[in-house]
Amino acid sequence: MEELLDPALGSVRVFLVHDDNKARKLRYNLGPARILTFGGAYSGHIRAVAAAGLRHGFETIGVIRGEEHLPLNPSLAHAVACGMRLDYLDRAAYRLKHTAETQARLRERWGEVTILPEGGSNAAAVRGCAELPGELGGDYDVICCPVGTGGTLAGIAAGLPEGRRALGFAVLKGAGFLTGEVARLQREAYGRVWSNWSINLDYHFGGYARTTPALKRFIAKYQVEGVYVAKMLYGILDLVRQGAFPGGTRIVAVVTGQPLTSVAECGAPTGLDSGEPRWRR
Ligand SMILES: *Cc1c(COP(=O)(O)O)cnc(C)c1O
Repeated sequence: MEELLDPALGSVRVFLVHDDNKARKLRYNLGPARILTFGGAYSGHIRAVAAAGLRHGFETIGVIRGEEHLPLNPSLAHAVACGMRLDYLDRAAYRLKHTAETQARLRERWGEVTILPEGGSNAAAVRGCAELPGELGGDYDVICCPVGTGGTLAGIAAGLPEGRRALGFAVLKGAGFLTGEVARLQREAYGRVWSNWSINLDYHFGGYARTTPALKRFIAKYQVEGVYVAKMLYGILDLVRQGAFPGGTRIVAVVTGQPLTSVAECGAPTGLDSGEPRWRR
């Protein structure tokens, strides 16, 4: 495991594990011949579904929040290059995307489809993410991940060995609802809720995809993806500085996101840089 080296850590150790959590969430959702799902114009979930469709040979439809903007941004261009067809819902309609009425309308237009929720978080996704801890070598006390919709955290916590804790860092503002959401996802996947996890709400930096000068400096220093990973790592380092972890605590930080190789897979120029890490010694 790579180790994050920073004098501010003292005797606390932080190990970095790269994981394409969006692909992991899809693993047990594959099978249907046609998958329709939802996302914003830069959604990593949309890209992951498109790439999986190309690789495994199923049809994909991406329903995007907002109006169509041409030319497509690099993220959507990549999805289309993978064979995804796009549809759009304006912001008001998009808020109702998970209602039976909207879904009936989408089925009318797109035929027989299996619908995955925005962000891909459902019971099957949770079971996919629960496999992550079992793949980790090394010994650790706490495992951290960024939290968007909560599926990744729900799974990681469910898969943890005895005596370990999971700590999620919310990247949205006003994300108190996520505690209920993670519990709901665990219950849906396993019929029970674990008590080995919590969510820190203090490092959203203004909200989803928002940033601040301090966070920008942090991103420049550590060369990490800015929407999710930087907020988690900033939070970990800040909490360590505040003495929130006892000396000697071993933390695994899950650096989520798609490696550049998988982003390039569909042959589309993406211009997306998930931040090839430059923090090795
Ligand atoms: C989607 C995503 C997350 C959040 O995962 P959830 O399961 O939605 O909480 C974290 N990091 C990256 C890079 C992501 O794309």
